[in-house]
Amino acid sequence: MSNTPETLDCLIIGSGPAAYSAAIYAARADLKPVVIEGPVPGGQLTQTTDVDNYPGYPDGRSGPEMMEDLKKQAQRFKTDVRSGWVTKVDFTGPMHKVWVDEKTEIHARTVIIATGASAKWLGLPNEIRLRDIGGGVTACAVCDGFFYKGQTVALVGAGDSAAEEATYLAKLCPKVYMLVRRDEFRASKAMVHRVMNTPQIEVLYNHEVKDVLGDQVVEGIIAVNNKTGEERKLDVSGLFMAIGHTPATELFKDWLDMDPQGYLKHVPDRTSTKIPGVFVSGDAADRVYRQAVTSAGTGCMAALDAERYLAAEGVH
Ligand code: NDP
Repeated sequence: MSNTPETLDCLIIGSGPAAYSAAIYAARADLKPVVIEGPVPGGQLTQTTDVDNYPGYPDGRSGPEMMEDLKKQAQRFKTDVRSGWVTKVDFTGPMHKVWVDEKTEIHARTVIIATGASAKWLGLPNEIRLRDIGGGVTACAVCDGFFYKGQTVALVGAGDSAAEEATYLAKLCPKVYMLVRRDEFRASKAMVHRVMNTPQIEVLYNHEVKDVLGDQVVEGIIAVNNKTGEERKLDVSGLFMAIGHTPATELFKDWLDMDPQGYLKHVPDRTSTKIPGVFVSGDAADRVYRQAVTSAGTGCMAALDAERYLAAEGVH
């Protein structure tokens, strides 16, 4: 039996909207892409309920169903989708080496990284339970804010994302409690200024969430003042978390440049990295937009960049 590793033109790591959009474009360009799904097949959208902001679905679609649609579309053009987890990469030479599940070595002329990011959560049992059943705990105001139009909500966090999401929610909701765990914001002065000038937002400094109330949907939260220990119930029907994201990029830290939060860097206006033939897409390289549709867009870009790279190398 030969131990020669399989050699591919295009390997895609990840299985969210960026990965499958890259796969659709790469497959149609005859690059015969292989997708390695990773630890969460389908990515972040499989952990959400309704997706109403992805173009082309006039009646919305559940996140898991949407990811099945994207996968089927990629497979229609003969994308080879494999379960497994990329555990190691070696980008030393022109042929990029990737190990799946620590044992299977694959060589690829181009690699498209679409490993995504995941929202951070507090980890409270009722927070996670209500998040998982779509009961009103979410980490994306832009995606889910609309469902809370006219209602009172709470948001946790004090960074730029939290400030941006609080002001976004304030356009829809008459009251937004913003729970800041310290006595000051982390967000930039300009963003804090915006929050302070939005009358619908009430900032509760030194406040944390102790518990989330409600069986099937959020019916309130218990907020605690971490200085005085005083607890109060806030009558909210939605809880938005904006305490940061973690990009899944640890695997690439020895090879690619990343910003202090771990988001992968790329050449401006391109998806190329400093390693020829390695391209980045989706949330792993986007700390600002983090939407399914923007991920899909950069996935497409990465596949086009990979195709052009291979053409320039005389491979395709
Ligand atoms: P950040 O890491 O900047 O902020 C996270 C916030 O969540 C902090 O205020 C932190 O509090 C708080 N937090 C973390 N854990 C907890 C917890 N367990 N309980 C309560 N609060 C918690 O993340 P962001 O997503 O806001 O921003 C990420 C990066 O993206 C930043 O560099 C930011 O500047 C950038 N960004 C820029 C935007 C823009 O320019 N328009 C928009 C959005 C993001 P504490 O401060 O106490 O640590």
